[in-house]
This record gives sequence, C-alpha cells and structure tokens, in this order.
Amino acid sequence: MSITTTSMPFWKEYPERDNEWVRQYPTKHVPVAEEEVFARKPMGAYVHIPFCNRLCFSCPYIKHQTDRDLTRTYLDALKAEITNYAGRPYVQDHEITLGYIGGGTPTALTAPQLDDLLGHLFGSLHMAEDADFSIETTPVDITERKARVLLERGVRRVSLGVQTFVAEELKNLGRPNDPEMLKNSIRLLRACGFENINIDLMHGINGQTMESWEHSLDVAIELGVTCVSFYTYMEFAQVSTKRRKLPPVPDRAVVDDMFLFAADKLTRHGFLGYYGDCFAKPGYQPKYGETSWSEDVPIIPLGPTATGHLRDYWYFNEPDIGRYIETVRDGRLPIAMGKHITKSEAIRRSMVLGVKAGRVDRETFRRLHGVDFVETFRAEIDDLVDKGLVTVDEKGIEVTGPKGWYYLDNISKAFYSQEYRRYPQHLGADISNFISSRSLPLEIITRPSAEEACHDH
Ligand code: SF4
Repeated sequence: MSITTTSMPFWKEYPERDNEWVRQYPTKHVPVAEEEVFARKPMGAYVHIPFCNRLCFSCPYIKHQTDRDLTRTYLDALKAEITNYAGRPYVQDHEITLGYIGGGTPTALTAPQLDDLLGHLFGSLHMAEDADFSIETTPVDITERKARVLLERGVRRVSLGVQTFVAEELKNLGRPNDPEMLKNSIRLLRACGFENINIDLMHGINGQTMESWEHSLDVAIELGVTCVSFYTYMEFAQVSTKRRKLPPVPDRAVVDDMFLFAADKLTRHGFLGYYGDCFAKPGYQPKYGETSWSEDVPIIPLGPTATGHLRDYWYFNEPDIGRYIETVRDGRLPIAMGKHITKSEAIRRSMVLGVKAGRVDRETFRRLHGVDFVETFRAEIDDLVDKGLVTVDEKGIEVTGPKGWYYLDNISKAFYSQEYRRYPQHLGADISNFISSRSLPLEIITRPSAEEACHDH
C-alpha cells in the first residue's frame, strides 16, 4: 500500500514546530526551604456546647438545660467527631491557629469536663503554639477552677455575657441583678491571668436611659476589659417582655444615639471598631472572626448546628442533638447541609465577610484570589467612598467610623451577587423546627447579637 502525502500539508499550517520539549510549567525559580514546602496551612475550629444551666426567656438558639446524662453522652460524641476530623489527611495538612468555643454556655460544663474536652481537642488536632482560642461564658457560670482549666488548656480570650451593670435593667432582663457579682467575675478572670476579656453589653433595654448606658460603658472601661461588644435588645426579645409589665424600651432614635455615643466614648478610650458594634483595644481583636472571614481560613465545625468552611464547601452540622449523637456514633461526620463555593463566590464571600470585619487587605486578597478587589468591585467601592462609608488606598479598604460602622451590614451587602442578593442570612442550621412555641417569630431574630456576629455561629 502506498502512503499518500497529499494529506500532510496541515503540519505546515500551524506555527513552526516548537523544538523546546515542555517538561514543567515555566516559573521564575527562587530559593525554597523544606520547611516552606511542608509548612502546615492555618485552620480554625468552632466548638459548640449546646447546654445552659439556666435558659433565658428571650433566647432563640438551640440549647438544652444542662443534664448530667445527656451532657456526658454529648461530650463523648463531640470527642469522637474531633477524632474523626483529626484522622483526615486534609485536616492533617493544617495547623489550628484560631478557634471559638460557643454555645449555649460552654462553661455550663464542669471543670473536669472542660479539662477533658479541651485536652482532647488540643491533643488530637495539630494546634499552633500560639493558637488564638476564645470561649463564651457568663458571670454566673465562671469559677476560679474553670478559669484556671481554660488557661492551662490554652484558651486565651473569654467573652462574658454581662448585658448591663445597672441592677434595675438586669432585673428587667430576668437576670441575676447584682452588678457587683458581674464586676467580681471580671476581676476573677483578670486575677487568674486572662488578659483578653470581652464583655457583651445591650442597649435598648426596658427602662434604659442614656445616663444608665453611659454608666455601663464607664464601668466596662474602669474594669479594664479589652473588648466590648454591644447589641440591641429591642430587636431580640420584644415579645416576651410585653407580658411582663416592664417600663418601655427607649425610642429607636435614642437607641441609635446610644450606638453613636458608645462608639465615640470607646474610641476616645483607645478602642478600635470592628464588626460594627464590637470594639477592642489594639491587638486584642479576636482573630477567629477577622482572619477566618477576610482570609478565608478553613474552619472545622464541631457540635450540633456548628458552621464550617472546608474544602471549598460551606456547611453546617445536624442541629438535632439526638441525630447528631447517632451520626457521630455511626462513625460519620454530622454534616447536614451546605454549598460548594465557586471561585467567583469565594471572591465575593471574602469581600462580604472581610468588609464586615471592618477592613480588607489588598495584598492578602490578591494572594488568595489572584485579583485586585478594587478593580473587581470598582463601581460598588466608588459608590461607598462617595457616601463616606469606606476609604480605599494601596493597602486596602477600611470602613469609616462611626458612620460606616453603623451601616456595616449595608456596606457588606453591597458585595452580594445579584443571584443571592435577596437570600436571608443563615442562622447556621434552619432552626425553625426546633424553636419552642413560646419563642419569637423568626423575622425578629434577623440580627444576631454582636458576639454571635463575631464568631460566625
Ligand atoms: S442567652 Fe445564652 S445563656 Fe441564655 S439560654 Fe441562650 S445560650 Fe443559654
């Protein structure tokens, strides 16, 4: 058979044959050390403890009255979930640099239970030496023994639900109404060695005035707390209070003034604003929210309703504690629902959550996503700059205070995609089926507490 050469000319139609044989992707080589190649990447962990010693009438979250047997069973399941994650290759490539232990009330656990759980958590996962871990607590639950366990196990920041230092307002909230006890719990934490102490304060409480609000802020400043988070009571607990013949809540205009007053007072005392209504002394912002949000650090979610972000998936855990325990006992991770985050969604997510943290670094964003966010979101940013809500320079974007802090959620939402613009916020899992009939209609709880907002609950 003869070979026909008339079909060959297409070889000539393409550019001349390249004689350089492709072996590698061409890059500029620079010195690389073994430590760099095998360095572990940062990762965070969120641990959920769904127990409280005393259930508050206005709380919409899934929580259980502390119960010895249920708590013991739950802690076994939680430790098994930690072990499951610790055995995953992807997790082994990472080092836990930040974490948050929330709830419920994590310190509703006894000191030995906390010791056992934290020992397992810190012993199973690759924990960075200087891992930045926060825990939520209440003045009623924290004891010297528990505080010492937390410190010994590596928890460095405590967030204390104080709400107000005014006895009458505490009574209106249905909380133990001894401001001295609250102050003593902060002194106790300081005496035990906690340097970084956050307190939650509320404005808009029944019977609250500008003077009493100023008093609470003054006490917080005098006590030397390093972070103050405040949130609005009226958006959170109105229904239950109507039945209890309480003095009225302050007008909306007064509540707004309280925000501006607090922002002004705290910044004059050296606090910096972040997340809109959280203020921290320089260097004391919790890394958990700031880094995990703006730098897209993956988060392992541990416990029912916990929300995580791993392997380009955003997901949350089974909210029902019984099903959570069963799933973990079966050797599976209790992942209930989630979403694969595409590249373009990851870019928007970093922008939405980064701005919510108050600032986004231009170089970090470029490193993460390969794009300059000022170019990508030029129209949105120009509009926000024109309105005096943000400033932009070579370093990045910064929300201006106090005006921008007040409108922080609006600013953050400017970077939503058209597709998801109208989607409601997730409260972790869809908890509507789990809220008891005496609880609030869901639309009242569209705004989480400041502390909630801080830890991507
Ligand atoms: S507000 Fe906090 S302490 Fe009260 S029931 Fe809810 S989670 Fe528990």
